[in-house]
Amino acid sequence: MNSKTQYTQLIKDKAKRLGFLSCGVSKAEFLEQEAPRLEKWLNQNMHGEMKYMENHFDKRLDPTKLVEGSKSVVSLLLNYFPSAGQQDPEAPKISKYAYGTDYHFVIKDKLKQLLFFIQEEIGDVHGRAFVDSAPVLDKAWAAKSGLGWIGKNSNLLTRQVGSFYFIAELIIDLELEYDTPVTDHCGTCTACIDACPTQAIVEPYVVDGSKCISYFTIELKDEIPSGYKNKFDDWMFGCDVCQDVCPWNRFSKPHNEPLFNPKPELLEMSKKDWQEITQEVFSKIFQKSAVKRTKFSGLQRNIKFLGE
Ligand code: SF4
Ligand code: SF4
Repeated sequence: MNSKTQYTQLIKDKAKRLGFLSCGVSKAEFLEQEAPRLEKWLNQNMHGEMKYMENHFDKRLDPTKLVEGSKSVVSLLLNYFPSAGQQDPEAPKISKYAYGTDYHFVIKDKLKQLLFFIQEEIGDVHGRAFVDSAPVLDKAWAAKSGLGWIGKNSNLLTRQVGSFYFIAELIIDLELEYDTPVTDHCGTCTACIDACPTQAIVEPYVVDGSKCISYFTIELKDEIPSGYKNKFDDWMFGCDVCQDVCPWNRFSKPHNEPLFNPKPELLEMSKKDWQEITQEVFSKIFQKSAVKRTKFSGLQRNIKFLGE
């Protein structure tokens, strides 16, 4: 075994021990196939008011511009599929990824441990950790590294565990053994396109971000356009519809990360409890949660928009 193969194996084994579902590696280079797609998507204004998506166009497509001297992109998946959901079927819904502690903290910590391990075991390796961070096209890297394929709903999918996981990367200046992409297994299925409550999947593999419930409930700072009234299928923070209907998510298995467990009250709250939520309850339930991103006023706006 040469050192590249050995180092790659060491990193993948450590990633497993840290609790990641899987780990794949790609050469850090310009994402040639993604460049025209990203440009078209931005030109059609499918990012809505997420203006940060327009920044760092070159850096997004080329990790060597983001991390000087980088050689490899190590992609990692971390499962967040919960073992239980909200109890009241009429309660406004929260996307499963946001049930527990903000994933940025949980994953950053694991990535730091992985980088520290690489430096201890392999030597003077430099790099940076990224979690759902604007300058990195995480799904494209994960797909290039063979961790799954990008489905018609634009999520990364695996035959083994579906799509309910976070994607993160380490970009490092160490050459490794590179993985190859897997084939697309969407086939003739169109379940996600048919089920999307706002018709945001405008064609297979293209989600118009500016029509997506996740965008309206999390990113949009202004009023939600009235034309979308009664179209949110009760989602108040994010939306899981195109993942819930995906046949590959029959294979999702509950995570074993205690920090991703929600506070019990979150699952127990009824529709009425949510409609009457106070700042105090919000702060208690969503302490350290990604839901804080909307602030109390944002969540209230979303709940009101869903109506009685
Ligand atoms: S997250 Fe919801 S609104 Fe957005 S594309 Fe998927 S189903 Fe449609
Ligand atoms: S629902 Fe069907 S088309 Fe959509 S991502 Fe899943 S397998 Fe692909």
